[in-house]
Amino acid sequence: MATSRVINFGAGPSALPQPVLKKAAQGLLNFNDTGIGIAELSHRSKEFVAFLSNAESHIRTQLEVPPTHSILFTQGGGTAQFSAVVLNLLSRHRLLFPDLADDERTMDYVLTGSWGKKAFDEAKRLGGARARVAVDARKYSKDNVSFDNVPLHGEYAFSRAPALIYYCENETIDGVQFSPDPTAPTSFPFALLPRERGGLLPLVGDHSSSFMSRPIPHLGEHAVIFAGAQKNVGPAGLTILIVRQDCLVDVDAAAKLGAIPVPLCLSYTTLAQSKSLHNTPSMLSIYITGLVLEYMKELGGIAYYEALNRRKAEKVYAAIRAGEEVGVFQGKVQSGSGSWMNIVFNILGDGAEARFLAGAEKAGMKGLKGHRSVGGIRVSLYNAVTEANADILVQFMEKFVSEANS
Ligand code: PLP
Repeated sequence: MATSRVINFGAGPSALPQPVLKKAAQGLLNFNDTGIGIAELSHRSKEFVAFLSNAESHIRTQLEVPPTHSILFTQGGGTAQFSAVVLNLLSRHRLLFPDLADDERTMDYVLTGSWGKKAFDEAKRLGGARARVAVDARKYSKDNVSFDNVPLHGEYAFSRAPALIYYCENETIDGVQFSPDPTAPTSFPFALLPRERGGLLPLVGDHSSSFMSRPIPHLGEHAVIFAGAQKNVGPAGLTILIVRQDCLVDVDAAAKLGAIPVPLCLSYTTLAQSKSLHNTPSMLSIYITGLVLEYMKELGGIAYYEALNRRKAEKVYAAIRAGEEVGVFQGKVQSGSGSWMNIVFNILGDGAEARFLAGAEKAGMKGLKGHRSVGGIRVSLYNAVTEANADILVQFMEKFVSEANS
């Protein structure tokens, strides 16, 4: 049995800040001086309701969420949102444009990785041929089958008045992200999106694996942003939603006009009206997430983490490039599309990957094995991975390269 903590580079659930975990352990016994542990307390108690509201304001202030958007807490992970965004935004479209033919209620999916593809598959299951692909990055990959790039702006084709436009900002499995630099060719093509009357966009972003790690470009223009907590901000079990208020629609009225009925627990309106307390929420996850958000604020908020995450990623990419030059490593993602949060590469040579993983584990580092669907190595550098942690990995990578060449 391990006697001390290791450095956890896992992709999620992932590392959490240790000072927060220590504090949370106290809250498990006695939450905010109630004399009751957080896992035993009523979600309707005034102490918990106040904590929830405080967690919401941490997200609002740190991410600069405008008053046009509600912040909601729910369960079911990103996966439940693959269904919820379809159902809520098709309902909204039905109410906004009741006279449109069904096949005009399109849903445009931008596919840059495995999670976007999973969301698209669910949209097809629920909405049939109305779900369409605006761009498929595999067409522009080195091998025609992998997700290894963000396509250039000229490659996107959006429909005229879609019910939703969907993208995944950071692809956790494939290690692909849209560039945060709006002038980069691999940035998200905000300027190309078809707008509704009044200039609104039905834009949905899955931000599960980059949430709270850096600012969200064009946040105020999104219809829905969603993120599971279990990468950067907390334990699994909590999903955070940022929903523009015109997307809080009467889903039952939409169903009467022919929209797919929406289960109440997936309806954004239900969540908003109940202030995220339609049913018992994942209190422990919310508690730890609230503590993480407070800790983030103390350290300097999003600006601090953006700079830190950029530095950590640059160091690891530099180590990969150095290994590439001598034929030991092979980066998987095309230049300009590499994620800061999940960095993927191969180790060349028979048995070399197993040696790398065993050596890393011996040196106190875990969670470096790539996703089972793509293999290779994946280094997840979420907020709780410190720069010192990343430095230890980089030193290990450098040593591995020099030993492979000696
Ligand atoms: N979207 C992204 C980008 C993810 O990384 C994941 C999980 O890792 C999901 C969605 C699915 O999340 P969940 O397992 O919480 O349903």
